[in-house]
Amino acid sequence: MRFFCLLAYVCFSFLMAFSQKPVMNERILIQHVRLIDGTGSSARLGSLRIQGDKIVAIGDLKPMTGEKIIDGMGQVLAPGFIDSHSHHLGDVMRHPEAISTASQGITSIVIGQDGDSYSMQEIKEKLQQTPVAVNVASYTGHTTLRLAAMGEKNGLRAAQASEIKQMELALSKELGQGSLGLSTGLEYEHAFYSSREEVLALAQVAAANKARYISHIRSEDVTMADALDEIIQIGKKTGMPVQISHLKLGKKSDWGQAKKILAQLEQARKEGINITADVYPYTYWHSTLRVLFPGRDYTNLTSAELAVDQLFDPAESFLVHFAPNTSYEGKTILEIGRLRQEKPAGTLMKLIAIAEEYKLKNPSVGSVEAIVGKSMTEEDVRDFITWEHTNICSDGNAGTHPRGYGAFTRVLGRYVNEQFPLEKAIQHMTSMAAAHVGIKDRGVLGVGAYADLVLLDPKSVLDHATIQNPHALSTGITRVWVNGQEVYHDLKSSAKRPGKLLTRAHE
Ligand SMILES: [Zn+2]
Repeated sequence: MRFFCLLAYVCFSFLMAFSQKPVMNERILIQHVRLIDGTGSSARLGSLRIQGDKIVAIGDLKPMTGEKIIDGMGQVLAPGFIDSHSHHLGDVMRHPEAISTASQGITSIVIGQDGDSYSMQEIKEKLQQTPVAVNVASYTGHTTLRLAAMGEKNGLRAAQASEIKQMELALSKELGQGSLGLSTGLEYEHAFYSSREEVLALAQVAAANKARYISHIRSEDVTMADALDEIIQIGKKTGMPVQISHLKLGKKSDWGQAKKILAQLEQARKEGINITADVYPYTYWHSTLRVLFPGRDYTNLTSAELAVDQLFDPAESFLVHFAPNTSYEGKTILEIGRLRQEKPAGTLMKLIAIAEEYKLKNPSVGSVEAIVGKSMTEEDVRDFITWEHTNICSDGNAGTHPRGYGAFTRVLGRYVNEQFPLEKAIQHMTSMAAAHVGIKDRGVLGVGAYADLVLLDPKSVLDHATIQNPHALSTGITRVWVNGQEVYHDLKSSAKRPGKLLTRAHE
């Protein structure tokens, strides 16, 4: 009997040591690294120890018996990046190893953006069914709330008091389940007709729950001043932190004015309003053709001409999705116009009309058309990225815009310089992002923080995704850990899926 017990014990130990499952308290020592801690402090040489899902020691550490040792070979070890405005969940559910995010060093994605969200319960169930390799947090979307309260077909009007009440209750419930706050996508049709009062009423609910507000503001071009005023007023009246999603200057006559916009935001901050922003490092966006008509008058030639003149460059803007005629996909609006023997303004109106007709005949089809529109300048993008209250986001998914695979590595490879050193760039991807969205114990290298980590080679880190090849992997991201487990190493997934649902910490 004793022999049997001993044999069982030996077998058990053997199984534990060699099983695929991580041993809960496994220790890993990462040596010979330049530690960049995410706070903006200068890099320093040292080592870092992981135990379980946490960082347990940082400094000049000697190996302990039984721990796994990784030689960092002088590369940079930083906190994993936090993508404050992401659309990656769909891709990550299809590909749980999360290559689209891990390959650019992202360890947490924040979804529920632009007013569209799943309920916290839905996200929880999805992640329970399909564990993934990246952490997920979510806002609750205003458009989702209003369509639930008003009916799918009634989104093109202001809400009534009773409907706002219903939205408030639903939002309150979601905040109770750990949603980070309220998100809006006010430029999109199903939210565009909401009144400022409706949005403010919901924002007050978020504020009362010590949550946050994040917004794709009502206009990023023609009426941007008014849209900025709206979010500043929300910050002022509620006292809660407010964040502008993917800050941009999309109107030609406003190009070069980034510093002026930032001065306006600085002024608001001086008055005590906690306003911040996130930005992705591209001069072109991805959206529907319809956003090019700020007056929602899709058959008005004057508006179409204004769009061509001021809101996008038809020679550099690609129709990336067009269900009614896939032969247009990958061509610029100018090229499609030539094929159709039309001027770009006419083409723009026709494409919208064709898409609308298609949608009526095929109501179950989700997205009918999408454009990658060139409408910003490099100088403005750089000014926005380097503002001390802007964190980096991708606004991406594994779709047709290269930001879904390359946003973070693009900043590291192309925007880092003497004025914006690596330590700053990493701060804008880690601790700053965590603070802006309200995620605790991540985004810094600190004892007791979660071990979400990126080992990167600053000399080779670079994005390679382009409009023509949007899923090309970045170089220079050597290893990525999520909650203490390595998920990515030398361009490959480890097949581990340690991502967690991150909920708003109750203060
Ligand atoms: Zn958006």
